[in-house]
Amino acid sequence: MNTVYDAKPAPATAAPDAPVTAPLGTGPSEAEVEALNARYLPLNFEARLKQLYEDFAPSQVLVTSSFAATSAYFLHIVSTIKPDQTIHFIDTGYHFPETVQYRQYLIDLFKLTVEDVRAEDWKHQFTIDDKTYEKDPDFCCSINKVEPLEAIKPNYKVWMSSLMHWQTDHRAGLPVFELRRGVLKFNPMIDVTRAERDAYIAEHQLPFHPMVARGYSSIGCTHCTVAGEGRSGRWLGKPKTECGLHL
Ligand code: SF4
Repeated sequence: MNTVYDAKPAPATAAPDAPVTAPLGTGPSEAEVEALNARYLPLNFEARLKQLYEDFAPSQVLVTSSFAATSAYFLHIVSTIKPDQTIHFIDTGYHFPETVQYRQYLIDLFKLTVEDVRAEDWKHQFTIDDKTYEKDPDFCCSINKVEPLEAIKPNYKVWMSSLMHWQTDHRAGLPVFELRRGVLKFNPMIDVTRAERDAYIAEHQLPFHPMVARGYSSIGCTHCTVAGEGRSGRWLGKPKTECGLHL
């Protein structure tokens, strides 16, 4: 699915706008988020997901997947509990061929409905010509990831993530529900430990991304990913640790 913009394509020489920072859409009040956390926090992740679909229709729930190292974990859970839930894939245009293959493999395995979200062609082309991923990766992520997703968020009431506390310092502080740029964010797996996740993967014999066997623990774009433990292989040599989607 291509992102829809009001503006006509700009001349090829023009640079896209500055990174997206302004809040979009209107979410629930802080008090409503607090009440949701009080209800969902005592539940485990499966019960949280089942409760979410009591409270929201699948068409109101935005689910995104990067089809990265262990995405089969999250996608197995969601597709088991709500088989008709559409999954959105942010196609940056810089994915490894193995990611594209893994995406199709999981679509077939779990019978997923997947919609691609991507930047307008001229904006993506700007980042190729400009090598923005080298000069200003935050801007490149803003163009190819954050901005396309921001454009579709107002179509949904809640955005579900697969974030877990142990993954990064930023994620360590997240609750089950939060307001993020005016959008209600649902992090059902946030308190799942790494050992619990690995046990679920082993129990259900879920397939890893093919590059995991070559030492890649976290897999993003070709320009910004090398082999390494945890997320150490992402944006190596740069202070950046998050693509901006979850900030
Ligand atoms: S991860 Fe790298 S190549 Fe991918 S969008 Fe961000 S900066 Fe660009």
